[in-house]
Amino acid sequence: MANYLDNDIKFLKGVGDRRAQLLWKELHVSTMRDLLYYFPFRYIDRSRIYRIAEITDDSHAYIQIRARVERIAQQGAGRAKRLTALVSDGTGVAELVWFKSINWISKQLEPGREYIIFGKPGFFNNELSIVHPELEAVGGARPPAPGVQGVYSTTETLSSNQLGSKGIYNLIRALWEVAPQHIEETLPQDFIRKYNLMPLADALRNIHFPETAEKLEQARYRLKFEELFAIQLGIVSRRGQREAGYDGFVFGKVGERFNEFYSGHLPFELTGAQKRVVKEIRADTITGRQMNRLLQGDVGSGKTLVALLSMLLAVDNGYQCCMMAPTEILARQHYATIQKLLGGMEVSVGILTGSSGARERRQALEAAADGSLDILIGTHALIEDNVRFANLGFVVIDEQHRFGVEQRSRLWTKNHNPPHVLVMTATPIPRTLAMTLYGDLDVSVIDELPPGRQPIKTFHVKDAHRLRTYGFMKEQIAAGRQVYVVYPLISESEKMDYKDLQDGFESISRQFPPPDYFTTVVHGKLKPAEKEANMRQFSSGMAHIMVATSVIEVGVDVPNATVMVIESAERFGLSQLHQLRGRVGRGAGQSYCILMSGDKLSREARARLEAMVRTNDGFELSELDLQLRGAGDLAGTQQSGLAFELKIASLSRDAAIVEVAREAALKVTDNWDRLDHRQRELMEALRQKGSIEKTADFSMIS
Ligand code: ADP
Ligand code: MG
Repeated sequence: MANYLDNDIKFLKGVGDRRAQLLWKELHVSTMRDLLYYFPFRYIDRSRIYRIAEITDDSHAYIQIRARVERIAQQGAGRAKRLTALVSDGTGVAELVWFKSINWISKQLEPGREYIIFGKPGFFNNELSIVHPELEAVGGARPPAPGVQGVYSTTETLSSNQLGSKGIYNLIRALWEVAPQHIEETLPQDFIRKYNLMPLADALRNIHFPETAEKLEQARYRLKFEELFAIQLGIVSRRGQREAGYDGFVFGKVGERFNEFYSGHLPFELTGAQKRVVKEIRADTITGRQMNRLLQGDVGSGKTLVALLSMLLAVDNGYQCCMMAPTEILARQHYATIQKLLGGMEVSVGILTGSSGARERRQALEAAADGSLDILIGTHALIEDNVRFANLGFVVIDEQHRFGVEQRSRLWTKNHNPPHVLVMTATPIPRTLAMTLYGDLDVSVIDELPPGRQPIKTFHVKDAHRLRTYGFMKEQIAAGRQVYVVYPLISESEKMDYKDLQDGFESISRQFPPPDYFTTVVHGKLKPAEKEANMRQFSSGMAHIMVATSVIEVGVDVPNATVMVIESAERFGLSQLHQLRGRVGRGAGQSYCILMSGDKLSREARARLEAMVRTNDGFELSELDLQLRGAGDLAGTQQSGLAFELKIASLSRDAAIVEVAREAALKVTDNWDRLDHRQRELMEALRQKGSIEKTADFSMIS
């Protein structure tokens, strides 16, 4: 029953072993089907020919000109070798440049001849230049290009093997000559009718070779729908299986410790949102179903307290709890905070992290196993096999985006029935994204900050005006406040980043010399004990300034710190900037965030920084972040870093389709028994496609 489309791509006319290897290595295309599903990432109107004089900036992604070759020259030698051609169309001149395939290109180019030239425009010395353009001699043997043509993303290596966008287009044309009769419809007929979808074969043809703009739109809709539907089907049925498979622990009573804490230890009145979420959790934990709840709440919205109250509910009902944090620092901070909040109550709290000493570790493990420990706080160390609980009933995971689905599920196996799980994230996630990433979770939102918080004021300062920033820091320190200065740490260039941090620390120490000022430093290379000591210098108020890498991104809670200076802010993602900003504004004092950046910024970086200055709303920022990344990524995998890769749909732009697909998936699962044999077969195949669940580091969100 093998389908022709499952054949190795090397058998396609014009491919062969070598290019097949390249296609695999560069694009993960290995079969005919893979190529068929390699979609254009944009379309251009090949019937439109620009005049050179018309193109005055580099805002066009692609242009097409018709011009005559005036002069050809080769310059440089070795790796610096390049070929340039000066072309003119009567309205202006442009320079074409090649760094690769020079011999091959120079054979194609004839001085005096007219070409259709296609590529991305750039400017060099105020002159239009196109690097590695596509060329077609006017009056050549090839038929003229059709109106709308797909542009395929490709790589430098592929381009220099004649597999630029056009090379790929040509392969797909060759494939299309044999493919159509082998395309099998993947959706049931009644489904296609009901949701008004284009049949698969038509959709695949139009996605590559659009007949009209309208048909292209229908093709895109059909393919996006199918992709999102498969994912939703996977999610919905996973959830169904889970609910059918286990009983949830019942926390029948609100007991002593909850009440004691609520009436005697609560340091402040809960916000309305905090109260609502505690109620939602309570309602979940008396149903007999296992709870899986995502708690979204912006930085500083008071999630820790909600977690503690929920854990006390569990403890009152005779269950143990654990709370997992993504970093050592955060785990220790939670431990300290919770002990302080409990202040002598009869609740036993332990800690376990990767760097726990032998004694701390033994104590935690023993007390968890014999049931004497009520709450165990820690890092990833908690999911190790040697961590056993007598009766684990409730799990809190803080900062979800650092943990994958698989890690989450490993915590489930620590009791005969899976514990209730509360996942907390400070990174707001757009609704449609949450529906997809966490579709098997219920969602609670804390949409209210504790009273008295003043919105943080954010400024963008270019490096040239650095002294202003220092001046401002001095004023704030003189007023008794503390300051964070954060440097980016991006693993590829770690060495350089640490150097930046080191240089930064030294120049801060020069600007803020002891004994008037005290500056401390925290980064990932410090030993845990040293790190902790330095953190304490800051949290105790002894140090005025903390220089740090983004390790302080999560967790640090120093209400007296009112200034967050972020160095090279253009290198951070929006959500991360927002997280960092959330480290200040925790007390009643007016707080400030200063985004330092270089003088020259890319359009996207500028958009990010402007958004930060404009709004404090984490939800708005996360929507924007998705859009910017979606637009900024030419590879077509807008969600790279996601557990699954979307080929065509976008979680940010196709929110409406996500919702329809979700509805459709729910309907199908509800009526599963009424499907006929064929329908069931198709749905099963889609479900499997959609269930490919990997451990995801949801780093896209951070
Ligand atoms: P996050 O949601 O970012 O984890 P935290 O739980 O760390 O936020 O809370 C941020 C700060 O707000 C803490 O200093 C905490 O003590 C304080 N806080 C929490 N809830 C309230 C409340 N209802 N009223 C006043 N302050 C609160
Ligand atoms: Mg927190």
